[in-house]
Amino acid sequence: MAETKIPRATAKRLPIYYRYLNILLDADKKRVSSTELSEAVKVDSATIRRDFSYFGALGKRGYGYDVEKLLSFFKKILNQDTLTNVALIGVGNLGHALLNFNFHKNSNVRISAAFDVNEAIANTVQSGVPVYPMTELKKQLIEQQIEIAILTVPTTAVQNITDELVDANVKGIMNFTPLRISVPDTVRVQNVDLTNELQTLIYFIEHYGEQLGDH
Ligand code: ATP
Repeated sequence: MAETKIPRATAKRLPIYYRYLNILLDADKKRVSSTELSEAVKVDSATIRRDFSYFGALGKRGYGYDVEKLLSFFKKILNQDTLTNVALIGVGNLGHALLNFNFHKNSNVRISAAFDVNEAIANTVQSGVPVYPMTELKKQLIEQQIEIAILTVPTTAVQNITDELVDANVKGIMNFTPLRISVPDTVRVQNVDLTNELQTLIYFIEHYGEQLGDH
């Protein structure tokens, strides 16, 4: 399939569409209109039509979109039809929680290898995932062809580990630490700062109360 360059905002909405379309499929629904979709996923229907047009998935007037066709389309784009192995570095409280959660119920992404500097946890299996010592990081990532890593290490260690990940040809990093990491522009970083997210939520509640919608 040819590479489709899609706007980042559109890419972020794809998993939302994908999840809802799966619900429709489970309910045996064959088609869906952009208005119906719009109400369910809380994205306005003009945006949905524009998003879908990037993929050449054009709904028919009076018919809407074919659920199965859309799903198989998104599946390819979202890589849901192939299993993506991900590494997790730092098996502390948050790391443990993510290992336990392990994404597989919702998607074809799973943490297949974990790493920790702590000798008490290295060479054990946690929630079904092998934990390797940090000395094996590069070797394991290359051998297992892992290109995505989740960082749940202390901030003091995060940049050094990032450099090691880059050296091991990692293409994407999900950074759970509050520190902004430096990477070459061939590597994409998603920052997830849970404390910050919660504080932002509290800030908005305190300052804007009930005036706010879902923005
Ligand atoms: P969390 O921040 O997830 O609540 P925690 O408070 O249990 O975790 P942290 O000190 O944040 O512990 O460390 C998280 C994990 O990262 C620990 O298991 C720790 O052993 C590991 N860790 C610390 N330094 C490194 C490093 N340089 N390389 C790999 N793992 C590390």
